[in-house]
Amino acid sequence: MSNWRVQTKNKIKELKKQGFYKNWGKKEFDLIIFFIYPNLKIDNEWFKKRINSYKKNAKILKVKPPKVNFFLYPSIEIGKKLGTTPAICFIKMKEIHGHLNQSPGHELTHILLGKINDSKNLPGNGLWQEGLCTYLNGTNTNQKKHALSLDISEETFNIPWESWSNHLPGSLYPLAGSIVQYIVKVYGWNKIILFLKKLRNSAKNQNKISLQIFKKSLEEIQKDWLKWIKKG
Ligand SMILES: [Zn+2]
Repeated sequence: MSNWRVQTKNKIKELKKQGFYKNWGKKEFDLIIFFIYPNLKIDNEWFKKRINSYKKNAKILKVKPPKVNFFLYPSIEIGKKLGTTPAICFIKMKEIHGHLNQSPGHELTHILLGKINDSKNLPGNGLWQEGLCTYLNGTNTNQKKHALSLDISEETFNIPWESWSNHLPGSLYPLAGSIVQYIVKVYGWNKIILFLKKLRNSAKNQNKISLQIFKKSLEEIQKDWLKWIKKG
């Protein structure tokens, strides 16, 4: 786990012990219980977007969506003042600490992926989790266009995907989103879900699984994806 994740996790534990969240508001829906920063006013549309995105993505990923506790902060800055970074998902605890301006679906998709495979096989910060959560983030962003609009170097485009199995830099989430976009387009969801289910031990077997399921190595798929993305 990266440093900010460990710090945030510990700080949240401490805040809970101190009873910090006791005076937060509560809004309960069938699948998500929102705990809301004191006096924060949110319109119903905001909640609806999260719930709809969660349900829609559960169907796409063919999982039963578990009930989630969602702690909502007004902004990432307010969280940082408290010593946390509220853009985090604890998959096993089924708990999200998020802020108002995040995309509707990103963090919730992490919870759904936890139903497909354990995070020791499919790491939370790795290419596959972050690519899927970015692609399914509930906005209409075209990840290919988004990735191309960033100043990503030629070198970065060519880094073998395997080197990101455990930890993908935050600046590359759109790139990861475009990888998922491509694989969905060419191979479809059934094969992707099967691929995710079969990953073992921090995705160490991903090349072998890729050959089995996509009938191509990841290296070959990366070359195909490069051609596709370079066409713009
Ligand atoms: Zn994420």
